[in-house]
Amino acid sequence: MNRTLQTKSPALWQHPVQLIGAALVGLYFLWCAWDPSQWHLIDGANLLIHEAGHLFFRPLGEFMMIAGGSLFQVIMPAIFVGYFIRRKIFYSAAMVLFWVGESILNVSVYAADSLALQLPLIGGPDTIHDWNYMLGQLGMLKATPKIAGFIRLLGTLVMVCALVWAIKSALKNDAAEEEPTFAQPQDEWWTK
Ligand SMILES: [Zn+2]
Repeated sequence: MNRTLQTKSPALWQHPVQLIGAALVGLYFLWCAWDPSQWHLIDGANLLIHEAGHLFFRPLGEFMMIAGGSLFQVIMPAIFVGYFIRRKIFYSAAMVLFWVGESILNVSVYAADSLALQLPLIGGPDTIHDWNYMLGQLGMLKATPKIAGFIRLLGTLVMVCALVWAIKSALKNDAAEEEPTFAQPQDEWWTK
């Protein structure tokens, strides 16, 4: 019986703490979604991963090398989401999914700049503008606002999913903690 008390007590605080965590992280990232063009702290990490992406995708040719920056900054946090899903730690997976959404929004800002070319680029003004190059190669530069708008919508939807998933996982974690406490003494009762 002692065991049942031990397993049940963490759930009592874990439940609201996880819910508050989901709400706070959700608010922060939805604020990011409100104005993606603002620089957020997490964009520093996105930028580093973006640059690494160009290197990783280099062997696949020029187009993929350029596309690799934007692709990798989304793939990288998505790998962490996959890792947590594999380990069945769904609350953590949902929290990292916020980062995936924010990184997609960060990509949308770059895509939206395909025609205006106003964003300061690493390496100066002579550097290739990834999205101007990609949409130019695909003959889709005129569709820049639609493409950037779609990417922004996608990023926002991913964040909304992350929020719903985080809240659901926090509530489920609570239930999962309580389940074994109920099952254990019952089993003992039947075997006796
Ligand atoms: Zn780039």
